[in-house]
Amino acid sequence: MSEIHSGVKFKHLRIAELEFNSIIKHTADKMISALEELPDDCIDGIAGNISARLDDGILVSSSGSCLKQLSQPDNFCKVVSTAEEMQIRYYGMNVPSSESKMHLLLYSVRSDIDFCLHVHLPNIARIQILDRYPITAKFLSYGTIDLAKEAARTIGSGDIVILRDHGILVVGKDLKSLTRRIKQLRNIQ
Ligand SMILES: [Zn+2]
Repeated sequence: MSEIHSGVKFKHLRIAELEFNSIIKHTADKMISALEELPDDCIDGIAGNISARLDDGILVSSSGSCLKQLSQPDNFCKVVSTAEEMQIRYYGMNVPSSESKMHLLLYSVRSDIDFCLHVHLPNIARIQILDRYPITAKFLSYGTIDLAKEAARTIGSGDIVILRDHGILVVGKDLKSLTRRIKQLRNIQ
């Protein structure tokens, strides 16, 4: 159902290595532990991405990472640009997630959230038919500012949005609520 992933669609500039200070390390550890709670088929292959708000940017999984096996330092970047900037500036070994603009935009319009998690669910078609959750009006190509804007608009002040024919995005103040939400959606028959 999803389009084929062909890398990031934004220009990017690597500033330097990401220094794994205690805050970065602690935040990355928390994200890795949270992902371990998810069923394997929710975080299959290189689909999906996760991020956390930092004081001076966001910590996000790198492009091409497997959420099932995130490791430090390779799979984490700190992004210090805004969603609207032409070039995404980052610290880290690898390019930030292709959906970095979506994560950045959500943090900028939602001061109440500290984490974003995007996954592809095997039962997405069923979830769409049930029509219980906010869903983007049409399919939009991954990694674009259009998808980011539509996701931000559709989610409103809620904690979940279905990205039509693609996947889901959950946001919140704590990682537990995000993984709980995903498990709940995965259980929909
Ligand atoms: Zn996706």
